[in-house]
Amino acid sequence: MDDEERRALEQRERLPGPLRPRRPADFDEMYTDVPPWDIGRPQSEFVALADAGALRGRVLDVGCGTGEHALLAAEHGLDATGIDLAAAAIDQARAKAQARGLDVRFEIYNALELAAFGEQFDTVLDSGLFHVFEDDDRARFVRALHATIAPDGRYHLLCFSDLQPGDWGPRRVSRDEIRASFTEGWRVESIDAAVFDVRLDPGRALAWLAVVTRV
Ligand code: SAH
Repeated sequence: MDDEERRALEQRERLPGPLRPRRPADFDEMYTDVPPWDIGRPQSEFVALADAGALRGRVLDVGCGTGEHALLAAEHGLDATGIDLAAAAIDQARAKAQARGLDVRFEIYNALELAAFGEQFDTVLDSGLFHVFEDDDRARFVRALHATIAPDGRYHLLCFSDLQPGDWGPRRVSRDEIRASFTEGWRVESIDAAVFDVRLDPGRALAWLAVVTRV
């Protein structure tokens, strides 16, 4: 095993598994290193959505980490905001926006309290936040999202799939769970098999990409 492999293994061992809820402090600490999900570019699934013109209006990147998806939206000329609880991630996101000459607003904010953010968005991007929550917080998050998305606005969700083997990394989510989370006040447009690019061997995990409209 070379040094890089050993480092990757150590990092994987520090990852909270599905049995351990992730707390804000876990995330802040992970941003002192480069966390496995922080690939330095947007997830290819979201690049494809942006290229297809699926992002529109005011865009919110929830649990934005170091900001790649809000930055992607801004590159496509959209009004973009990113929020994350981890201050270290928001610092990095702001630095990237400045370095790339993009005008994006990044704020430290709890996604569970989005209703109090007092703004509405036409498009919400979620790369790896939904699968972080335990059941109670998941329901709370969906309620907060509903208050934050304008009528006919869309939520694009990329989360780890129950088809992904192993117990490293985040909680796995099934299509039925996604459907069950978005019932009254929502219309699930599609839930497609997708990939999550990660910095750990083998570089990708099985995911679901869901498109949900707030009715
Ligand atoms: N979207 C980013 C980060 C995914 S990791 C990317 O694709 O790289 C999940 C992110 O959610 C972490 O940055 C973590 O700090 C953030 N997070 C976890 N709980 C949160 C909460 N309650 N509110 C806002 N952000 C949260």
